[in-house]
Parts: sequence; structure tokens; C-alpha cells
Amino acid sequence: MKPLLLIPPIYKKIVVKVGTNVITGKNGTLDLEILNSLTTQIAQLQKKGIQVILVSSGAVGAGRSIIKPSGTLTPVAARQILASTGQIKLISTYDELFHRHGLITAQILVTKSDFRDRQHYLNMQTCFTALLQQNIIPVVNENDAVSVTELMFTDNDELSGLIASMMDVEGYIILSHVDGLFDLKTGDGSIIPEIDPSTKHFHQYIHPGKSEFGRGGMLTKCHIAQKLSRLGITVHIANGRTPEILLSILGGEKTGTKFLPQKSTHGPKRWIANSQGLEKGAVTINKGAEAALVSDETANSLLPVGIESVEGIFRKGDIIKICSTEGLAIGYGMAQYSSEKTLVIKGQKGHKPLIHYDYLYITQ
Ligand code: GLU
Repeated sequence: MKPLLLIPPIYKKIVVKVGTNVITGKNGTLDLEILNSLTTQIAQLQKKGIQVILVSSGAVGAGRSIIKPSGTLTPVAARQILASTGQIKLISTYDELFHRHGLITAQILVTKSDFRDRQHYLNMQTCFTALLQQNIIPVVNENDAVSVTELMFTDNDELSGLIASMMDVEGYIILSHVDGLFDLKTGDGSIIPEIDPSTKHFHQYIHPGKSEFGRGGMLTKCHIAQKLSRLGITVHIANGRTPEILLSILGGEKTGTKFLPQKSTHGPKRWIANSQGLEKGAVTINKGAEAALVSDETANSLLPVGIESVEGIFRKGDIIKICSTEGLAIGYGMAQYSSEKTLVIKGQKGHKPLIHYDYLYITQ
């Protein structure tokens, strides 16, 4: 084992996401060797004072090693059975492995709707903060047994991204079964060490195999990594099977692909930035308001005078989507009026903003 971090670690608080393909072998059997290595590394980091939140997939995979759901079940029911049986195996394995290092494990199962309501979100944040303060390792997964299909996370990369942003971590490490983003231009298997936050068109770095474009594929990872890097979080994509990978990353070694962070954003803006798909309503704004909001020069709030139409039913404090007259999403924000009140004052001057700048996140 590496003499841990003789140099100061580069982050103090991190989220580590481990994919199913890192920790399970054939038929979903948990790979104890890898799990032992990862938990040992996390324990070492923890003992150096680094706070680690672990997001682990593998419940559905582990379920497959326990039970074969009847063929008459719907795919949703079969997944629920696999997830709820497999999660016990997964978490008890983590519990046992962390226990060997004198650490306590906490299980947190979440659904996407847990991120919808600000109060609920702050509640979750309090729970994570308390666990970390007590040196307990939170092990998180989606609550697949009760998640509704329409409101599921795209995958655990998305879930971990929301937690990374909620917990204001400095680093988010995605451990997958590949070494990072390949440089397809050279074609010699070399990895792109760094990605700038302004990078667009990730297709150029991704092998055209279909699995990379679907759930849990490299394209989603890239989009999430980029979103977080724009919020000020450094994201690493690396191979979870590489020995001592976490220690190498925290020690500042160049390994895998690193998404460089942009200026940091905090508090409500981070929550709002991750609210895509969770909005309760939408407003369409006119061209003048659009130009003001997307301007890099000044920080502008969204005033009722710029609103053309209102959709859905929302209350003060709800997240709403802001659309251009062409119907494209420009951003998200927290409404300061209900939809009813907005309908009355839309197009009028002299009212306070519908969305204040501090509660506004522009996606364009
Ligand atoms: N929650 C799923 C599981 O534990 C995995 C989802 C994912 O890997 O993205 O099996």
C-alpha cells in the first residue's frame, strides 16, 4: 500500500461514485478483492481527515446473484426485487469491510423527488453533514425499490452529482471500468488528462459503441462532469480497478481524466442548477429579458415585465423553468410569486423580480 499521502491531499471533502461494473463480477457476484481495496483506501483517506461520501451501485447486480425473479414479472417489478434484495448484500458487505478499519457505515437511499423540495433538500444536507462530522461513512444508492420510472435518476452518476453539489465537495470521483476519456484523434489508446469547462461535443472522445451513450454510459458521465465543473467542482473519471486509484488522485497524481473547475457557485444556485426536470412550472420570456439574462456583463434578475406566458401551477419558493419564445430552456430559478400572481402581473413594470439573480441559474 502507498505510504498514504505524504504530501497534503488535494481535497478535504469528496464524493466517490463506484459503478456496478467495478465491484461486481459475473452474475452480479460482489468482487470482494476490489471492494476490500476501495474500502481500505477510503478508510485511509478518512483517517487523514478527508470526508468521503460513497455512492455505490451494484444492488441490482448483487440481487442477480441471490434471486432469479420469475419471468412473469414486469421489468419494473423484477428490478425492484433485485434492488431490494441486492441492496442488503451490498450494504452489509460495505459495513463489514469498513468495520475492519474501525469505521461505521450509514446507508442512505434516495429518490429524485428528495431533491425537489428545498426543505427536504436541506434536511438531507443536514443528515450528510452530521454523519461526516461523526466520521461515519455514508454509503448512498438510489432507492430503486420505490423509484417511479418517470422520476428516476438517469443513473447513479447523476445522483452522485446532485450529492456532490449539495454537499459542496471539492472533488467528485467517478470510478468506472475504463481509464478515462480516450483521445480518439491519436487512436493510440492514450487518455485525455484534462478537459476544460468550455468543452463541447463530447462525442469526439467517446467510442461509438452504444453502451457508452445510454444509461450509465460515458456521454452522461461527461455531461454531468461538465455541469459540476461549471459549478466549481473538480471531477475525475478513472478506472476503479486500478490499484490505489483513490490515493493516487488525492495525492495529486495525473491519472484518468480530470474536468477542470470553473469559478465556484454556492448555496441555492447549486440546488437550482441541479433542478432540471424537477420544475413545477415554466415561464416564457421576451427577447429583451432573454438578452439581459444571458449577458455575461451584468447580473440580472428576471422581472415580471419580461414575461410573456406562464405554464403550470407553482407556489412562491418552487423551482420553475425559463423558456425562450422559441421554447428552448434558458435556465431555472426559484419563483418569488405563485403562478396565479405571475399571471396577473406578467408584462407589467414596477414589480419585484419573479426570480432574483441569487436564485437564478442560466444554462446557456
Ligand atoms: N441503483 C442501481 C443499482 O444499485 C444502479 C444504477 C447505476 O448504476 O447507475 O444497481
